Order: sequence, then C-alpha cells, then structure tokens
Amino acid sequence: MHEYSITKSIVELCHQEARKHKIGQVKLIRIRLGRFTGFSPAAINFYFDYLKRGTRCENARIEFFEIPIRIKCPACNFTGEIVEPVFICPECGKPDIEIISGREFYVESIEGE
Ligand SMILES: [Zn+2]
Repeated sequence: MHEYSITKSIVELCHQEARKHKIGQVKLIRIRLGRFTGFSPAAINFYFDYLKRGTRCENARIEFFEIPIRIKCPACNFTGEIVEPVFICPECGKPDIEIISGREFYVESIEGE
C-alpha cells in the first residue's frame, strides 16, 4: 500500500515541524490531496491512527482538501475537470490529454499548541 509510506512521511514531517516550532501537541493537519494521486483519505486515516502513537501528532486529526483532476486537450483545446478513472477528453474523446492539476499531495499547514 502506497498510503502506508506516505502516511509515515506525513507523521515524521509533522512531528519534526512541531518540534521546530515548539508545538507540544499537533491538533490539526491540513493536507492537499490531488485526486490523480489515487490516495485514499480513509486509508491515510487508518494508518495515521496507528503511526501517530508516541509522536507529537498523537492527538491530531487530518483535514483533507481534495483537488479534482483538471485536464487540457491539445486536440480540441478543452480545459476542465474530469472524473477518474476515465482519462479521455470529455469533448472529443481523445485519450491524449494533459493533466494540469490533481497531482498535488502536500501538508498545507499544521495547528497545535
Ligand atoms: Zn478534446
């Protein structure tokens, strides 16, 4: 599972950041999640509950901001959102499309005290 290793990185990152900014307990982690990554918030939460034990994230929860997949079609110039897993242009049906957003995955901010 991809989610296990990325959740591990999130916990490590947030723990380090909390230490750097003298945050004793992280309360909230905000994550930007592009839908093209295929990462499941439910799976991340599942691993998070296990991996956060004994870290400064122990009492934290994650808030996800999902970013839809936007594409540009070089054939007909369509630009807009598509719904995975159908990766073709909704206008002209060509599969040769360019992903312009939806690959994002990062911790936007952490809050705590
Ligand atoms: Zn098109």
